[in-house]
Amino acid sequence: MQKIMALNGKLYRKWFLPRVLGAIALAILSLLPLIVLAFPVNKFAANAVKSEILPAPAIKHEKSILDFGNKPVAFAPEYFALAASFEINKDSDLDHCEEIVSKAMLKLPSEHTAALTAINLTGKKMERRGYGGYGSIDLQCVNLDDAELVGVLVHEMGHIVDIDYLTGGYTAASAFIDFDRYIPADDASVDFYSISWVNSGRRAKETSKMDFVSIYAMTDPFEDFAETYAMYVLHGDQFKRMAAGNSALQEKYDFMKYDVFFGQEFNGSGQRLNTSARIYDSTKVKFSLDKFLEV
Ligand SMILES: [Zn+2]
Repeated sequence: MQKIMALNGKLYRKWFLPRVLGAIALAILSLLPLIVLAFPVNKFAANAVKSEILPAPAIKHEKSILDFGNKPVAFAPEYFALAASFEINKDSDLDHCEEIVSKAMLKLPSEHTAALTAINLTGKKMERRGYGGYGSIDLQCVNLDDAELVGVLVHEMGHIVDIDYLTGGYTAASAFIDFDRYIPADDASVDFYSISWVNSGRRAKETSKMDFVSIYAMTDPFEDFAETYAMYVLHGDQFKRMAAGNSALQEKYDFMKYDVFFGQEFNGSGQRLNTSARIYDSTKVKFSLDKFLEV
């Protein structure tokens, strides 16, 4: 009996085990093509996988939940030209805020304002002072002075220009993703992003703080665009001084000048900035609103 068992054990090791192992190996090998196919092979799918590991996405089209049940307000005659392109909604008595916003919008190219559908003004405190992108802007009219309000407005208009004015042909995806939306490779904004960024969440290796107009511009490519736009419009002279000593900033200045503002430059009416340091964000720079608004 013992002899048979010993013989069986020998047989098991010699024949049975190798056959089972061989069958398992064969099964794995035959499944291999299926495993490989399960991984993305096209560019869109590859980006979709990449987006899962990106840090917090840009917030430019994140909308606040506000009640703008009011009907659009009538425009004063001098703003009639603007009424054709966008409307201003208010959730309370915000005439002064509306007047400042309307006047400031007249300072921007009509091509930019035409990309906008609505500006929603609120008398309530929002989590952020403003939101912009995908055709509309939400602005908080309380707890900030007129100059800061215009600073926030112009920053949000930067998002509108980035997303709604500069658009691509939607043919192929770039490495840049705004939430779940791919920025097309032929969108002119991609040329701007590429100055300092490799994708939506990663700055190019060789960039430094000095390559950005503000610390906030370093958040992501979309904030970089909006901050650069705001600095160009409100502090053009200071931006120019900073760009004189930095090639990345010079590229960003030139992009705004030629690709966004048709060669138009802004003088700026604000405080002189230290070119070897960077401010936190564009709205923190003091400037004369009267000078900016004067015709
Ligand atoms: Zn922003």
